[in-house]
Amino acid sequence: MGVPSVFLRTFGCNFKCAGFGMPRGEISTEVETIAFAHDNIPYKDYKDLPLVSTGCDSYASWDPRFKDLSPMLTSEAIVDRIMEMLPQDHWIDEHLVITGGEPLLGWQRAYPDLLDHPKMRDLQEITFETNGTQKLDPKFKEYLIEWTDNKELTFSVSAKLPASGEKWEEAICPEIVCEYEQVGTVYLKFVVATEQDISDAECAVGAFRNAGFNGHVYLMPVGGVESVYTLNAKNVALAAMKRGWRYSDRLQVPLFKNEWGT
Ligand code: SF4
Repeated sequence: MGVPSVFLRTFGCNFKCAGFGMPRGEISTEVETIAFAHDNIPYKDYKDLPLVSTGCDSYASWDPRFKDLSPMLTSEAIVDRIMEMLPQDHWIDEHLVITGGEPLLGWQRAYPDLLDHPKMRDLQEITFETNGTQKLDPKFKEYLIEWTDNKELTFSVSAKLPASGEKWEEAICPEIVCEYEQVGTVYLKFVVATEQDISDAECAVGAFRNAGFNGHVYLMPVGGVESVYTLNAKNVALAAMKRGWRYSDRLQVPLFKNEWGT
């Protein structure tokens, strides 16, 4: 937190996470209404899409019904956009955070072309924000091992608990996450709201530890909206301390509120 970072958001996800913010066993239908509206009078820009308070708040970056709002860019065009954002036109101390959707889908094959671009050579640190379900492509793994020779790579693994609506056996993949540890620093991050979520996180951590996972565990309070987040934050911090885990804040909420691009 607090490190100037460029976020590269790739399109597509293997999950839907329609259970977030819903009573257990129920799924959000907020996006259905938005998709229906988009079919009739198309939105022109993803930033015009309504924000949702249930389900995945990044739906615009994976739901195929909104794919027309995400441009397909060449590596060259992505680098140009990044350079426009950096205050000095080149990397100094900024991090690149590659997120999604799920950034470790087929995009793994495209990253070497982007990272080998001459203007990307000064980049020193990358974080993948992943749901921890995608195996590393062997060639990409080899590439990353070389890349990290003198640079930092982190996998921020937000493994999905049952509150997401996704199935445990598909969402909790300890062997896959342990393989990330062969390449970079890995931590687990669980977004929690209730005692049940925290107890699910304990079970998940047990499964990851049994598989040999060595990294840190973070709890993060649910809440894209400041009022919800503030209510939950202290309890989540206390629950993390009680278990010897770490607490992660949501700095973007007080700074930027719940908006696209934050
Ligand atoms: S894994 Fe992440 S991006 Fe994919 S649906 Fe779930 S919350 Fe959204």
